[in-house]
Amino acid sequence: MKFVMPGDKVGYKEEFVLGEGVYEENGEIFAAVAGKIVVKDKVINVEPVKIIPEIEKGDVVLGRVIDVRNSIALIELSRKKGLDRDLKNTGLAALHISNVQNEYLKDLNSAIRYMDIVKARVIDEKSLKLSTKEKEMGVVKSICSVCKHEMLREGDELKCPNCGNVERRKLSSDYGKGKW
Ligand SMILES: [Zn+2]
Repeated sequence: MKFVMPGDKVGYKEEFVLGEGVYEENGEIFAAVAGKIVVKDKVINVEPVKIIPEIEKGDVVLGRVIDVRNSIALIELSRKKGLDRDLKNTGLAALHISNVQNEYLKDLNSAIRYMDIVKARVIDEKSLKLSTKEKEMGVVKSICSVCKHEMLREGDELKCPNCGNVERRKLSSDYGKGKW
């Protein structure tokens, strides 16, 4: 039994038929959820396995974006709201492009970027699926992709006080407040 995290490569398109809990990008197959690989009649699935015992469905969590793919952002969880310490077991959670905001989102990079700190709701505690659709959920801290300076909120956008660069995100109503 092999455990995988969201974003782990599990095979190639030529080898398998895509089942549940996986997605394909450029001929490669990746886990969309945390769990174990199950192959049956060439159909590859990742069956969700709960890997962070402290996390329940409905929890609000905080984490850092470590990768943004075409359809999912991978977020390394560190905190859970109501818990005054870091999580004992850390793990990668997945934010799918369809769970970022209520409005249609064409490009994930226009809402979430590498190194952003994100506040999110856990919608599936086994597969570690997140949602940032609520007003309070989304990016709470972000750095400029040009000069790495911390970005400040200006209306619906972020502006870099150092180089003037302007970027968009799915912003949490807590952005820049230093609390979450
Ligand atoms: Zn900048």
